[in-house]
Amino acid sequence: MALNLVMLGPPAAGKGTQAKTVARERGIPHISTGDMLREAVQAGTPVGRAAKALMEAGSLVSDDVMIEIVRERLDRPDTRDGFVLDGFPRTVAQATALDGLIRPRAPLIVIEIIVPAEALVARACGRRTCRDCGTITTAANAACPACGGPLVQRRDDCEEVVRERLRVYERDTRPLVDYYRRRPTFQPVDGDQSPDAVGVAIRHAIETALEAPALTGRRT
Ligand SMILES: [Zn+2]
Repeated sequence: MALNLVMLGPPAAGKGTQAKTVARERGIPHISTGDMLREAVQAGTPVGRAAKALMEAGSLVSDDVMIEIVRERLDRPDTRDGFVLDGFPRTVAQATALDGLIRPRAPLIVIEIIVPAEALVARACGRRTCRDCGTITTAANAACPACGGPLVQRRDDCEEVVRERLRVYERDTRPLVDYYRRRPTFQPVDGDQSPDAVGVAIRHAIETALEAPALTGRRT
């Protein structure tokens, strides 16, 4: 059965890395709408130009534009055996549209990586980046473990900014989680463990969701 997966999770929860791993293991595309937008802006496509104008005006890219980007992407044949969506949906309108887009396919599985705010702040604010080679490491290192270069703290890595981003995430994502929560294919995962342990928990959650009664019923 195809694996149509949506990954939700707060910033710095490791969602992107986990999404890529699942996609690689299953041989299905990892569809990051953030990456797609950046590429579209760089390539100067019509969608990219529209998105750039909106972002420069300080606005979010509209639901309509995001839905169109995802619709086009899901039309490509490499999504036939499934996909891992990362960064979409962000709103209930996008979630409703996504349900419509994949209705003829296998049902949507939604995984929410849950990490307490304190743990996220500790992770993000303990991060240092090498000024010379870009290696990301922790404050425990005095210099870059890769090249010995000086380590800098990214400006947006401070606690206040992380907490604000979390507040925005909670505010925007809560309605989305409420939208999905009652489905047997919605699976929360404890993200407050090592990346490997989170990966194991995600694989388990996927298997549980694939065996959910609603899916079995639909298959027979
Ligand atoms: Zn370095």
